[in-house]
Amino acid sequence: MPSIEEVYGLFETVGCCSFATLDDRGGVDSRIAHFFACDGEGLYLRTMSGKPFYRQMVEGGKLSVCGEHTQAPCTWDDQNMPHFQPGFHITDDCIGCGACADACTHKAIVPGQPYRILGERCDECGNCHNACPAGAVVEKA
Ligand code: SF4
Ligand code: SF4
Repeated sequence: MPSIEEVYGLFETVGCCSFATLDDRGGVDSRIAHFFACDGEGLYLRTMSGKPFYRQMVEGGKLSVCGEHTQAPCTWDDQNMPHFQPGFHITDDCIGCGACADACTHKAIVPGQPYRILGERCDECGNCHNACPAGAVVEKA
């Protein structure tokens, strides 16, 4: 049987996982989260005490976790939160018109020279790519 550290290491490899609990009517609620630490007693994740996820875990006492290893590039900030690289990025061909930011319904593009896509907000819909008059929004390699 693997140790807690070994299990944590496997989840670190996977990154974000799907966590499922039972709702008040016996249905399944699931959401994406990740383990951020472990010790001799178990694995730790974060949620807010006002969320159904928290109540369902505390009251139900059961939690199902599954994940799939992806090759998507991911970095971790100093709060141990994951940041995914967006499917598109903006090149130096950007002329700063702002059309991409206007087209982005996820508020994932910030001004600059060039404008920049925030990976943690990007849904990879491609609207910015289609809106750019300069061909500056390109798919990541
Ligand atoms: S791909 Fe879609 S969600 Fe991502 S930055 Fe472009 S418009 Fe926004
Ligand atoms: S639409 Fe294209 S040129 Fe205009 S700000 Fe966005 S990336 Fe730059």
